[in-house]
Amino acid sequence: MTNRFIDLAASGLASLQPYVPGKPLSELEREFGITDSIKLASNENPLGPSPHAVDAIQAQLHDLTRYPDGGAFALRNALAAHHDVDPVCITVGNGSNDVLDMIARTFLGAGRESLFSQYAFAVYPLSSMAVGAKLTIAPAQDYGHDLDAMRALVNSDTGVIWIANPNNPSGTRVGRDALRAFIEDIPETVIVVVDEAYFEYVHADDYPDASQWLDEFPHLVVTRTFSKAYGLAALRVGYGLSHPDVADLLNRVRQPFNVDSLAQAGAIAALADREYLRRSVELNAAGMRQLVDGVERLGLAYIPSSGNFLTIDLGRESGPIDHALLQQGVITRPVGNYGLPHHLRVSVGLAYENERFLNALERVI
Ligand SMILES: *Cc1c(COP(=O)(O)O)cnc(C)c1O
Repeated sequence: MTNRFIDLAASGLASLQPYVPGKPLSELEREFGITDSIKLASNENPLGPSPHAVDAIQAQLHDLTRYPDGGAFALRNALAAHHDVDPVCITVGNGSNDVLDMIARTFLGAGRESLFSQYAFAVYPLSSMAVGAKLTIAPAQDYGHDLDAMRALVNSDTGVIWIANPNNPSGTRVGRDALRAFIEDIPETVIVVVDEAYFEYVHADDYPDASQWLDEFPHLVVTRTFSKAYGLAALRVGYGLSHPDVADLLNRVRQPFNVDSLAQAGAIAALADREYLRRSVELNAAGMRQLVDGVERLGLAYIPSSGNFLTIDLGRESGPIDHALLQQGVITRPVGNYGLPHHLRVSVGLAYENERFLNALERVI
């Protein structure tokens, strides 16, 4: 259906397909007449939040009449200490999606190009189109970023290059030498975003911590989040690490109170809870092995994943399988919207949830 106001709207919105979030659990249970469903659809942490984060949030509850600290002083100081950078390098966001959106609003616009890979994270095109930028999509290689193909598409209009490492929904990652050489090659007039939403899960020798390169590359922005390994997706906290001049611009477009006081307190406590992080990473590694073993037993192909999710090739349309899984109370994410109509993304859950998913999948295929 056409929207009667579309001609009045910013130019990129006519072709923008909005992000479709999963339905709430309660609504799906009502629709399918099921109870005790399990949700493995949004790459959330199955462990539940850090108890220290919950305590810190509870301690803030009496103060809800006050605006939060708009400069997120304590959170930025904690992050600065954690990353050994100056607090002026940090831009806080209402989730890291908010930081990605600030980057688009700051460095893109009509006449500028936004460059990312086929199968890259959905927020890159959304934020880019909202500001009227042109999308340039590099073909993927084995579902992952082909950095040479991306480099070849850089031109004088390119404003921002987005690299998710690891990427969602493919779970693929790029190695240290390749990524470093890529950033070295990109002119300083082009912002390179390395989105490290799943950073904490990856323990491979060749996996880079791009935040270590901030001193060398003033056009580099690294984003991180509390939504995944830190288990605080509901709070909406993420941040960008960059050269202070880039952070200064991002903070000019940032809404002054974008991270609320509960989120600031919870994030500070979660950052300090190294035991929680260790458990969440360990649980993910075990759950990933369980899912991979199970999927291999079923004879299905999958994209090897460095994240907290596995994207499985069903060899046929994922829609009907997704529907059949829902009827069994198992919520996963078909990724046809990413151009992967035969794939289904499943988030790593608790051991019993992974098992329930695998059993349900076996029944429906
Ligand atoms: C989940 C995810 C994010 C994080 O989003 P938040 O807004 O921080 O919750 C960012 N990038 C990618 C690739 C993701 O999958």
